[in-house]
Amino acid sequence: SAIIENLQYQTEVTRLMDIIVNSLYTHKDVFLRELISNAADALEKIRFIAVSDESALDEEKKLEIRISANKNKNILSITDTGVGMTKDDLITNLGTIAKSGTSNFLEAISKSGGDMSLIGQFGVGFYSAFLVADKVVVYTKHNSDDQYVWESTADAKFSIYKDPRGNTLKRGTRISLHLKEDATNLLNDKKLMDLVAKYCQFIQYPIYLLHETVYTEEVIADIAKEMENDKNYDSVKIIPSEDPNKKTVTVEKRVKKWKLLNEQKPIWLRSPKEITPEEYKNFFQVLSGFNDEPLHYIHFVAEGEIEFKCIIYIPSRSPSSNDQLFVKQNFIKLYVRRVLVADEFVEFLPRYMSFVKGVVDSDDLPLNVSREQLQQNKILKTISKRIVRKILDVFRKLYLDGKKNKEALKEQIEKEEDEEKKKELVTKLNEASTYKKIYTEYKKYLKSGCYEDDLNRSKIVKLLLFKTMLHSKSISLDTYVENMQHDQKFIYYASGESYNYLSKIPQLQIFKKKNIDVLFLTESVDEPCIQRVQEYDGKKFKSIQKGEISFELTEQEKEKEEKVKKMYKVLIDVIADTLKNQIFKVEISRRLVDAPCAVISTEWGLSGQMEKLMKMNVN
Ligand code: ADP
Ligand code: MG
Repeated sequence: SAIIENLQYQTEVTRLMDIIVNSLYTHKDVFLRELISNAADALEKIRFIAVSDESALDEEKKLEIRISANKNKNILSITDTGVGMTKDDLITNLGTIAKSGTSNFLEAISKSGGDMSLIGQFGVGFYSAFLVADKVVVYTKHNSDDQYVWESTADAKFSIYKDPRGNTLKRGTRISLHLKEDATNLLNDKKLMDLVAKYCQFIQYPIYLLHETVYTEEVIADIAKEMENDKNYDSVKIIPSEDPNKKTVTVEKRVKKWKLLNEQKPIWLRSPKEITPEEYKNFFQVLSGFNDEPLHYIHFVAEGEIEFKCIIYIPSRSPSSNDQLFVKQNFIKLYVRRVLVADEFVEFLPRYMSFVKGVVDSDDLPLNVSREQLQQNKILKTISKRIVRKILDVFRKLYLDGKKNKEALKEQIEKEEDEEKKKELVTKLNEASTYKKIYTEYKKYLKSGCYEDDLNRSKIVKLLLFKTMLHSKSISLDTYVENMQHDQKFIYYASGESYNYLSKIPQLQIFKKKNIDVLFLTESVDEPCIQRVQEYDGKKFKSIQKGEISFELTEQEKEKEEKVKKMYKVLIDVIADTLKNQIFKVEISRRLVDAPCAVISTEWGLSGQMEKLMKMNVN
């Protein structure tokens, strides 16, 4: 008899299971997406291994996924011919090793009000099986081990044992879900087909369903006849269904009728013209595990020296909480000739692009190189550069389109006489453009890109938006420059913790008086980022909180300044002497109007905000 090892889940997994099993959640159906995507991952792995070692496929040549429902026993099984798991894999992958995503997922699920569809993003998708099953059995056969069984009833333990029946699978994994009472509707073909259509239509491997179909009375006789002639069936028996409007055809004995549920041509290889927005959206959901629509997508086919195809999505929300800007995660799947070579390829795009999701497929990359070598690969670097550039160009285009639209709307509003129509137009005007939405969600990424990416800085800076003294709604640097005064030499900025704070600083007074606009930098990345940029459209940036501010003075103003300097010489000397250990120098200011004095930094010094930042980083 088999030796059964009883093991304990890692504590966080137990917590996760408690939550999955005991509470009421929405989107329970995602379990199918998760299990099928695991199956597809396992198939990708064996295919990748087979690239350098053909014999890996010897036991089983077919790469496919099969779903079958056993209505008598209330069991739903999902079987793949993927890489399978050794006994050790089973122990590590399913239960004992802490996954970094677990606690993040627990947090996200409580914040989202119980939306289980998030689970796939956190690397714990397997456990979603327990949303619909009170017992899960995993049979698995890896090329280098015997067939093992993993079994759990959703308490704190699971057991692992060698399959006493021997190796019933040639290679791969079967997950058997013993369905909860309230989940037996999953045994219905129609329901399963709908779910596969919804979640799995872009899986690159055939998905078959063992099929039993509910037909209307009119067609039932024909079908029965047809099935009788079909050699796949031994016999056909018609059993009336409980629903008087329908009849069920049940096919008895040795059923071989598997229905193919999906078309496996990868969407990124199809022509963009033939793909509907709905298909793009669905593919995004499959790829990202997100449940909503992306803000934008880019289907990019690069031709010429290096050819590749890619679809890049901008999700509607950033993957991580703001304090953890760059979480390590799979964001780009890299295929070489349809074979997935890397899905954890975090280094592929720069860190500040880690918010995009997508696939890249190229025929120009070598298939049989290690990931390390791949990372150093010149072609890959070129592809990465082109994609980054493409994304930034698309952002710029979206920004310009948005701006044009707004201007057109403003014009329309001015002309419109009908009050109702005018109102509608104003509502439209106030709606955020696609670019504005992207920017709102990802500005921190873009700003750190502006800081880090020397190559693309000039592109990124064009995408940044800031509030200014005169604009409480963010504007671009283009707009700032367009509105500059004719003799204005610099782009002025002030940095501080909030808009409110900055609008009151004394250094601003002269700018208010002269109606010269000042950028308000209120986020911690803003000032370091602007300092890297140095100049825009030929105009240098200048902090109004540092160094000299020199405006052209009229003769009159010059005279007045001389007079004031003489008048206050004594006072200034006294202040300078009294504070000599705290300050560098005291002088008559050109930037104050009402306030008696302001503390400023030297030209080469740190601004108050930067100083605060540096202190924070030290602590
Ligand atoms: P993720 O897929 O994000 O790694 P999951 O919780 O979905 O997280 O799966 C955990 C791990 O279990 C996988 O990484 C994989 O190693 C293993 N696994 C799950 N399902 C299968 C399968 N059908 N075939 C082979 N390995 C699997
Ligand atoms: Mg998974």
